[in-house]
Order: sequence, then C-alpha cells, then structure tokens
Amino acid sequence: MILGSHIDVSGKEMLLGAVNKAANYEATTFMFYTGAPQNSIRKDIKLFKKEEALELMDKVGINKDHVIVHAPYIINLANTKNNDIREAGIKFLKNEINRTSYLGMKTIVLHPGAHVGMGIDEGIESLIKSLNEVLNSDESDVKIAIETMSGKGSEIGFTFDQIKKILDGVERKDKVGVCLDTCHIHDAGYDIVNHYDEVLNEFNQIIGFEQLLAIHLNDSKNPLGARKDRHENIGYGYIGFNTITRFAHDERFKDIPKILETPYYEDKPLYKEEIKMIKVKEFNKLKNQELIII
Ligand code: FE
Ligand code: FE
Ligand code: ZN
Repeated sequence: MILGSHIDVSGKEMLLGAVNKAANYEATTFMFYTGAPQNSIRKDIKLFKKEEALELMDKVGINKDHVIVHAPYIINLANTKNNDIREAGIKFLKNEINRTSYLGMKTIVLHPGAHVGMGIDEGIESLIKSLNEVLNSDESDVKIAIETMSGKGSEIGFTFDQIKKILDGVERKDKVGVCLDTCHIHDAGYDIVNHYDEVLNEFNQIIGFEQLLAIHLNDSKNPLGARKDRHENIGYGYIGFNTITRFAHDERFKDIPKILETPYYEDKPLYKEEIKMIKVKEFNKLKNQELIII
C-alpha cells in the first residue's frame, strides 16, 4: 500500500529529515511543502540534502515517484479581481514546479483557488488560462494534481463537474490530473459514507480514475455538505474509520499515493499509529475523544 502522511521539511536535515520521519512512520510515501505554505519565502533548494534523501528513500523502500509536493495555498490562480495576485501565483507556481523537478518528484498538488466574488465560471476560466501559461512552456516531467475542494468561502473545484471543466481547459493534458481529498468531497456534499460506490462511479464517469494522481485520506470534523474543510483524525469524524479504510484498500487505487493530513493530538502527529490502523484495518482509540456515531 502506498500510504504516508504530510511531513514538514525543516531544520538542518530538510528533505533527509522528512524521509527519516516517514521511515519512522513506516510509510511508503509522504507529502511536503518546499517552504511555508502561506508565504513565498523559500530556502535555497540546494540546501535540501537531496542526494542523501534520495539514497535513504531507496533504502527504506520509498519510491520517489510516489512522493508528493503540495503547492503553497497562497497561490490563487482563480482570482480575476486582482491580476497581481494571479500573476504572482503563476510566477510562484513555476518556481515550485522547478523545485519539485530538481528534487526528483513528479507530482505537485494545487488548490484550484477562490473566485473572490466574481463567480465560479470566471474563477475556472482564470485558473485554466493561468494553468496554460504555466504548463505550455514547462519542460519538466512534473504534473499538477488539481485538488478537489470543500467549497468553503468562494473556493472553486468542489464538484466533479468543475474539476472536469478545469481539466478540459488545460491544453497540456499530459501535465494535469486530480488529487481526491476525502474530507473535502465529503464536506462538499458527496456521501462517501452511505454511497461509496455511487460517488466513485460518478467520479469515474465525470473525471475518470485514470486522472487520479493522489488521494488525501482525512476524516472530517463536520457533517456531510458542511463546506467547512476541517480535517479530523481517522475514525473520529463524520467519515469514520471504515470508509477511510475502504479507500485505502480499494484495489482500483492501489497504485495511487495516499496521504494523511490529519491533525496533531497533544502537539504530536498520530501518523504512525493511523498508518498502522489503516494497514491492518483495525481501529485503535488513540485520543480521549468521543467517536461520532454515523
Ligand atoms: Fe490541499
Ligand atoms: Fe488535502
Ligand atoms: Zn483540507
């Protein structure tokens, strides 16, 4: 199973440190930001200890092609109100793609962005135009995975139809795909708890499983359709352990990297324990917190 978690790249050890953590979690993949997600300050990519990190990945059984980079969420290519923000986002995304490519990874997850009051259609159009500007001149082998969103605020990309529209507008079809986030689609109103097969059939019919580049496995703090986007630890939210485990063990997704982005508990991540629980399909109460009866 290609399963891991989000991991911070920081300190002196940088990517090497992240691989060490992933190995400690007994993960077979991980996801990272190349810098703070909320600003554009970036550490020189040459300081990432790339060679040592790649060597260690080999040793601990992490295939670098399964490791995911997440683009900073300050990038908003759907913003038509303020073109400076869009232009800055394009520049920043190009730079992030170069950094991803330098480190040897092949997938970068991108939030489709928010239309900030101009409407979903305009937001989608702006995103498509921007993606074409970024991708048409790109010579790396990095692909952008457009993440399915919850629809909070003025976010775009919270229905399969919207995602499909975005993919259709991108000229370089070989350079885009999708990242499915379980918390986000649940919060957007897709009932994966009671209608797992129907929802996935719908995804397959509209977008296609072949577009899947990554899956984010998160439980949700909010009920179906809440459009909130607050992740919960596996088994503690409105999605529940069984549905998350179903995704993880679904044969159709066995080659897709699956990433946990669940919250810390008492200042510590639960990734190691959550990874194990999912693998063995056995829920273990890790937190002193009531379970939601679904
Ligand atoms: Fe994300
Ligand atoms: Fe996510
Ligand atoms: Zn989220």
